[in-house]
Amino acid sequence: MKLIIFGPPGSGKGTYSRGLKEKIGIEKISTGDILRAEIKSGSEIGKKFANYVKDGKLVPDEIVNEIVRKKISEINDNFILDGYPRTIGQANFLLNLTKIDAIININVHDEILVEKISARRICSNPNCDGNYNIADIRKKIDGIEYFLPPLLPKNDMKCDKCGSDLIQRSDDKPEIIKKRIEIYYEQTKPVLEFLKSKNIPIVDVWMCKPPEQVVDEIIDKLKNLNLL
Ligand code: ADP
Repeated sequence: MKLIIFGPPGSGKGTYSRGLKEKIGIEKISTGDILRAEIKSGSEIGKKFANYVKDGKLVPDEIVNEIVRKKISEINDNFILDGYPRTIGQANFLLNLTKIDAIININVHDEILVEKISARRICSNPNCDGNYNIADIRKKIDGIEYFLPPLLPKNDMKCDKCGSDLIQRSDDKPEIIKKRIEIYYEQTKPVLEFLKSKNIPIVDVWMCKPPEQVVDEIIDKLKNLNLL
């Protein structure tokens, strides 16, 4: 099964795709994780795009497309793309490369995003995708009841998976978050309309309850589409 998980920055794409990997064994391809690991490694290519990521801007399509092409060629037909495609150019490249079975579209109010991203903590180990959140959000907006308890590590600010320190992502600062959300609406949201126009089935969910429940809802909806 080939899936895209789509949603604004901080909408839980990484967390849900990790949950899907655990429950149904689908491989996660996160362009954000790959780019951050490359930057941390100090490689020449990483140096070229470090500033884009730091400023919350999109890395040029040619670079990201090549990363995804390589990754897809290494993985059999069972993956979920997290953070890609983010531009119409990337979407065109992807659809020329392969057929996508469904798009998981995450809905969330902007107000929740800013609160959630500012409270995100990630594992400092570039080879680990540990991800936590210290915010405790319980409120109702436009009829949507948000119940998002914190996702805390078992030991104070150490990763449950590998024991490394937890840190805040350098682009998870208020001004940069605003920039990323702005870019999402200008360049990335139109990609959803574009993909819809290609008749790819959409699975809609709200980021309003604990991740495990959202993951189960996604699995049920994939079953309804006969994809599982
Ligand atoms: P989020 O979804 O919270 O913004 P990501 O980890 O997906 O976080 O992305 C972090 C940063 O990595 C982006 O702000 C951008 O600089 C870069 N990036 C990730 N994926 C892409 C992509 N598909 N195209 C261009 N830049 C990307």
